[in-house]
Amino acid sequence: MEDGFALGDFDVCDSGDGGDGDGDGDGHLDWCTRRRPSCPSCERPRIACWCPFLPSPKVRIDGRVLILQHPGEAKRGVRTALMAARGIHGDRCRIVVGRKFPGEDQELRRALEDPDTHLLYPGEDSKELTELQGPRGRTLVVLDGTWDEAKCVEVQH
Ligand SMILES: [Zn+2]
Repeated sequence: MEDGFALGDFDVCDSGDGGDGDGDGDGHLDWCTRRRPSCPSCERPRIACWCPFLPSPKVRIDGRVLILQHPGEAKRGVRTALMAARGIHGDRCRIVVGRKFPGEDQELRRALEDPDTHLLYPGEDSKELTELQGPRGRTLVVLDGTWDEAKCVEVQH
């Protein structure tokens, strides 16, 4: 019996022409000539799909998670924010891409103005999560990007 990964669990693109997938055997990778097939759930190339590693059952939370994503992070394509959204049960994790929030998004404005909404960020006045109590469940705001990008994100609340 063998340990480790079973490649059969993944939908690996194999055209049988020597690996480059475009049928001419010239060595150009698939992504040079056409879009690689991607997973509709995690939006990653099939071979890098992380869906089988999501928690099962999904994590149940009382409150909500609001991920404010810098456009630079959206471009990187690792999709860690989506990983959180796909791993949380129900419609409790929302991802919004931008640099200034809430912008024109009225639903987002209401969420950011709610006193039970808290920004997850290290600082002198930060509180422990266990100190925060709200009768209706809290909303945690998470900035998604590099530290430099996160510092550039403007959140009005
Ligand atoms: Zn996937």
